[in-house]
Amino acid sequence: MASHIVGYPRMGPKRELKFALESFWDGKSSAEDLEKVATDLRASIWKQMADAGIKYIPSNTFSYYDQVLDTTAMLGAVPERYSWTGGEIGFSTYFSMARGNATVPAMEMTKWFDTNYHFIVPELGPNTKFSYSSHKAVNEYKEAKALGVDTVPVLIGPVSYLLLSKPAKGVEKSFSLLSLLSSILPVYKEAIAELKAAGATWIQFDEPTLVLDLDSHQLAAFSAAYTELESALSGLNVLVETYFADIPAESYKTLTSLNSVTAYGFDLIRGAKTLDLVKSAGFPSGKYLFAGVVDGRNIWADDLAASLSTLQSLEAIVGKDKLVVSTSCSLMHTAVDLINETKLDSEIKSWLAFAAQKVVEVNALAKALAGQKDEAYFAANAAAQASRKSSPRVTNEEVQKAAAALKGSDHRRATNVSARLDAQQKKLNLPVLPTTTIGSFPQTVELRRVRREYKAKKWITHSKFCCRISEEEYVSAIKEEISKVVKIQEELDIDVLVHGEPERNDMVEYFGEQLSGFAFTANGWVQSYGSRCVKPPIIYGDVSRPNPMTVFWSKTAQSMTSRPMKGMLTGPVTILNWSFVRNDQPRFETCYQIALAIKKEVEDLEAGGIQVIQIDEAALREGLPLRKAEHAFYLDWAVHSFRITNCGVQDTTQIHTHMCYSNFNDIIHSIINMDADVITIENSRSDEKLLSVFREGVVYGAGIGPGVYDIHSPRIPSTEEIADRINKMLAVLDTNILWVNPDCGLKTRKYTEVKPALTNMVSAAKLIRTQL
Ligand code: GLN
Ligand code: ZN
Repeated sequence: MASHIVGYPRMGPKRELKFALESFWDGKSSAEDLEKVATDLRASIWKQMADAGIKYIPSNTFSYYDQVLDTTAMLGAVPERYSWTGGEIGFSTYFSMARGNATVPAMEMTKWFDTNYHFIVPELGPNTKFSYSSHKAVNEYKEAKALGVDTVPVLIGPVSYLLLSKPAKGVEKSFSLLSLLSSILPVYKEAIAELKAAGATWIQFDEPTLVLDLDSHQLAAFSAAYTELESALSGLNVLVETYFADIPAESYKTLTSLNSVTAYGFDLIRGAKTLDLVKSAGFPSGKYLFAGVVDGRNIWADDLAASLSTLQSLEAIVGKDKLVVSTSCSLMHTAVDLINETKLDSEIKSWLAFAAQKVVEVNALAKALAGQKDEAYFAANAAAQASRKSSPRVTNEEVQKAAAALKGSDHRRATNVSARLDAQQKKLNLPVLPTTTIGSFPQTVELRRVRREYKAKKWITHSKFCCRISEEEYVSAIKEEISKVVKIQEELDIDVLVHGEPERNDMVEYFGEQLSGFAFTANGWVQSYGSRCVKPPIIYGDVSRPNPMTVFWSKTAQSMTSRPMKGMLTGPVTILNWSFVRNDQPRFETCYQIALAIKKEVEDLEAGGIQVIQIDEAALREGLPLRKAEHAFYLDWAVHSFRITNCGVQDTTQIHTHMCYSNFNDIIHSIINMDADVITIENSRSDEKLLSVFREGVVYGAGIGPGVYDIHSPRIPSTEEIADRINKMLAVLDTNILWVNPDCGLKTRKYTEVKPALTNMVSAAKLIRTQL
């Protein structure tokens, strides 16, 4: 009985690769220094898997930036603007594509399926020339072999590569990317031939697009591609790996009938129905099934007994020697190693497994199937599962009951939005085209230091060497910052103010730290893109709000001005989507619990005299399931959760929400159904797209502020440019519902950028007011 790992985190247990990359980019270290760090990381990962007993160990899952970009490099599909002249692609061209350089912008980046990882989108057209230009896969295979580890080289499969690409600028949208299949397959053949020559006996093609809703033309491309590769692949065992959802029945049929493919990898965590499919539709005899039973996207220890029984039922279908125990997807979507979590509570820790621990789980399952069950290890796992089930820290009866009562019912404000807006306007008395910002203001080095030292003090209160800042000093520093931000906004003559969020490090962490049911890691980093990592909180128990979280700061800020001050909260769906979530209850149940906690906060803010409350749902769109059939259910509970937070406020309290990610045309009706009074939305990078919805006749009656400039860029937009944008919006939206605001929070910008940009934004709004 064999074991396999789909892929492994690259960053290292302490983000070694991140620091090496950034130091190289800053010119502080050499290419050799960077390569040394990378080589050491790869070696230690291979050794770790080999020591654990894993049979099929992946190679080429390491990347200096991104695995899709690595494939672009392999294919030599470098966009013209990088002036690459051929030959093996080195750091200079590679990182220019990833990050841009002094003269040319980077390639576009987008989310990898429904994960928080972002890949570099290939730009292809009818004139793209392909040539074998990066030998990374074979180099890594040889590198591992020299260390005594025979690996399975991993390539992004040709069909997924094309389906994830976009037509290059100037190429017609109707251009069929799949028509490039015959142009890229020769390069794949060269790479395969080299891998074979180097001694590889297995090869893994990641084809995750197979879990999407594909049409017959796309499926036909799969058959065509792997038929075309058949002779090149002969003599190799070929694994096609899928992940992130159930594989649809049609795709399963296509995939399992491919001659050249000898093994199939399925995600049995997110794709629980695939199991039934294998049972009902059958499995081709003589082929391997790589069963992804250990969750690659979460941090929970596997329920080994449950996995073992799943595996045993599969064994009966595919045969003992053809079943391979695996992870549900690459482990790059989970944290690296629990061993570095020295501060985590030991009971909670016993419930967790990060990548390093998951490798051990996979192997233990394989051994158990082979009749060599490690009884002590299984017993310890069962004890941890039992403790998690019965721990009073997990269950809060009251919260469970309140959340259960929400299901199936509807929660919305009693009065319709236009009547509410009238009632609010009587109190707020805002000009037409009111101006506002999204929440955060620049976070200076000094501010970050104050917050860090205050936090550090909380950890070591009893240390006699404690020289950190006191509670009073902290509060007064934050107050001073708020007062500065208030003054700036008054000087700019902004209509609805924000306090600037100086007390927050992160919009989810800030709330998670004050809610019960959340735990935080010291090193639980997950790669987001390039060298960037995020450290999601862990939701382990029923969520409740012991104390108000933002009321003190919002009231303080409101007391400094006579203009309306927005209370600023993160919404339940965003908190959920940016955390590691419990797997012992459905996501919507956890979301409802968070919604109830935020509802209390909303009501306390209202009682504290805050008349405008913004509940950010930056990540609502990202939680959308991959398969269309599941969209309605998700949107229903997500939107319901948002409404729960504010269904109890008075008509005169104005509820705002903010959403990032401009591509939301497909969910516009759900956004309307959120029933917020005002929505501010990221827009400036795709103006036309957003406005086209309204042009096409979607009726929108609530307030709306499509961002008038891009805060992701240091560029300062001119008054004319912003005015022009506002005019374009007025062409499709009613004057009395339009708001004027930037795209998103200003946290990552400098004051030297923010002040002139906001000055121009306010001038533009005033200019247009005079023209109405
Ligand atoms: N209120 C948050 C801020 O301004 C919103 C951030 C976001 O949408 N990502 O920073
Ligand atoms: Zn945003």
